[in-house]
Amino acid sequence: MVQAKKQLLLQALYSAGLLQLFLASQRNKVTILMLHGVIDPNAPSAWKPLRSQLTTKELSKTLTILARYYHFVSLPEAAEMLAGTRPLVPHSLALTFDDGYRNNLTFALPILRQFKAPATVFLCTGNVTKQEPFWFDRLDYAVQSMNDKSHQGIPELKEIDFSNRENLTRSFITFIRKEKTNYPTDADMRSAINNLTERMEQRSGQGLADFFADDPWSGVLTWDEVQKAAAEVHFGSHGIDHCQLGLISPDAAREELLASREAIEFHTGSPCRHLAYPNGSFNNNLISLVKEYKYLSAVTSMHGLNRAGAEMFTLRRIAFPRNNSAAGTITVTTGLSAGWQKISKKF
Ligand SMILES: [Zn+2]
Repeated sequence: MVQAKKQLLLQALYSAGLLQLFLASQRNKVTILMLHGVIDPNAPSAWKPLRSQLTTKELSKTLTILARYYHFVSLPEAAEMLAGTRPLVPHSLALTFDDGYRNNLTFALPILRQFKAPATVFLCTGNVTKQEPFWFDRLDYAVQSMNDKSHQGIPELKEIDFSNRENLTRSFITFIRKEKTNYPTDADMRSAINNLTERMEQRSGQGLADFFADDPWSGVLTWDEVQKAAAEVHFGSHGIDHCQLGLISPDAAREELLASREAIEFHTGSPCRHLAYPNGSFNNNLISLVKEYKYLSAVTSMHGLNRAGAEMFTLRRIAFPRNNSAAGTITVTTGLSAGWQKISKKF
């Protein structure tokens, strides 16, 4: 009901031209949108992740709206505008895809071409080289493989509600959020999660690794695919294996920044100078290393737009809007909806 009222109000503001006025006031800020996987729900697949996925239909619909109001630029172009080395084009918007899922090329790229929207894909080079699923996808599959009472006796799963898919989704998302902040280091978290996942895989006798290479949801790009796409898609670093870079030692962070950049440069033949912090995790020491290794920009998961002269290693992004109205979409991409939420929490 509250949502319906909000939609009506947004529609009224849009019809009165007020949202467009607000958008015009933001014209000199650069919008960087964050996406992950993009999936065609009709693609044959052995499973469906609990984590919500953007569909090809949603991507197409939102880009149709954005194309009316924004000028699509690549992330390197956006970074140059923000750094002041390229003239700022009003209403610039860049699309960035984290993780390096194959579906970014198979499902998203054909749609992006229609809109002449350049893409930057941030790769985890270790997952590409080893052709391994991400820990969060492997965990997701393992949890869903726990049928009947097979999850009983695994203490970590006591907060997961297996009663139906809706409850499972909600409790799994809460569980994963909690786990990410539950350990002093990334290695501690990995070790605990891997141990849990392995126990579940042993019980069910199944694992995502068995079929993930051909899986439309979780499959990761190969270097061959990266090389072929490199003329059309810009590839940046997302570290080696999705480590939370703010929670690892300086030596490990150096290795992540350098080895991932070198692997991407070797396979694409182009400089890799842009980074996305996995899980948005960074700290001041890490920023110093990012500068030392000659990256030109780093994007975070912090919500917001960027103005010229922004701190280049803590660039803000906005999650790709999935609202199907122009009013709702603009409200998200101008940062208005986040401001709205903050205000409504205060009252
Ligand atoms: Zn990521």
